[in-house]
Amino acid sequence: MSKRMIGQFMEMVRIDSESGEEAEMMRYLLQAIPEAGGTAELDAYGNLIGRFPARGCEGKEAILLSCHADTVKPGKGIEPVIVDGVIRSQGETILGADDKAGIAEVLEAVRVATVMPPVEFAVSRQEEVGLHGVKNLDFSKLKAKKGFLMDNDTLETIVVGGPSYFAIDVEVTGKAAHAGMEPEKGINAIQAAARAISALRLGRLDHRTTANVGIIEGGLIRNGVPDRCSFKAECRSADHDTAVALCAEMERTIREQVEATGARVAIVSENLCQAVSIPDDAPTVCTAIAALRTVGIEARPIFITGFTDASIYNNRGIEMAVIGIGAKNEHSTDECIAVADMEKAVAALVEILRLCAA
Ligand SMILES: [Zn+2]
Repeated sequence: MSKRMIGQFMEMVRIDSESGEEAEMMRYLLQAIPEAGGTAELDAYGNLIGRFPARGCEGKEAILLSCHADTVKPGKGIEPVIVDGVIRSQGETILGADDKAGIAEVLEAVRVATVMPPVEFAVSRQEEVGLHGVKNLDFSKLKAKKGFLMDNDTLETIVVGGPSYFAIDVEVTGKAAHAGMEPEKGINAIQAAARAISALRLGRLDHRTTANVGIIEGGLIRNGVPDRCSFKAECRSADHDTAVALCAEMERTIREQVEATGARVAIVSENLCQAVSIPDDAPTVCTAIAALRTVGIEARPIFITGFTDASIYNNRGIEMAVIGIGAKNEHSTDECIAVADMEKAVAALVEILRLCAA
């Protein structure tokens, strides 16, 4: 089992699929899913929906397994290597275990399970850049009311909830002028943006709330007063109302501070995700804990301040727990995964399928 799964995992990570460029990966899955005994189609947005028939049981409700097909950057030309049972990239790129290890594990689990309910398998696009795929997923194609998202790194925790999330894009427009000859005619957009950013409350604001400015860009030449500067901020909170209020506060501060310099500002805020959580003793959580115990792992439920496709599934009425794939150092060029942990994830998944068919 391990050799076949690892071979398939290595094949998949070699397919470039940075967010927005998942088509080739989806083409691969349109073939791989029938080879694993299922059927597969794409929805209008390009998300993949696979189906596997029940095995060894009858009349059971379908369950949903889900992963995402995209990776973060740098994710082009990934060349995986195995050293001492651990798979990593050559070092210049991420590995893409997030989330292709999840896909490989699901495909292996449905191949080897002897008892399982009907399984729906949704693989989303553009998860890493704002959950766009799952938000545009054709939910009319899904029957399952419960499911498991294979997109947590460690096997030791089960994610039961995520925060509300706001992305805030800011465009500051000043006035260009020669920096040496007539600076008084200019309005420095970089300075205006800096003034706004330094007035923001950033970092961990309370135990459930954070804010950040992650990107700033502006200016073209050293000797010109820059007329443009843009920056990207975010805020998130486990409490939706807190996140709404914080986003409004950030917008207000940015506007006041920028306008005080004479520059103009355009702010676009988007609520990419709404806080959601399922109970620690929800059926999917209990099933996952019981299954992981059979491979020697005592998993505990946690709420995270990151977000996953599960937030959208839960918002849409499909109870979804997020379980681990066994990866480490995701979103970095140190990303790696141990073959032994992938095997444990498969064994736990096979047990989840068995429990769901019981
Ligand atoms: Zn992921």
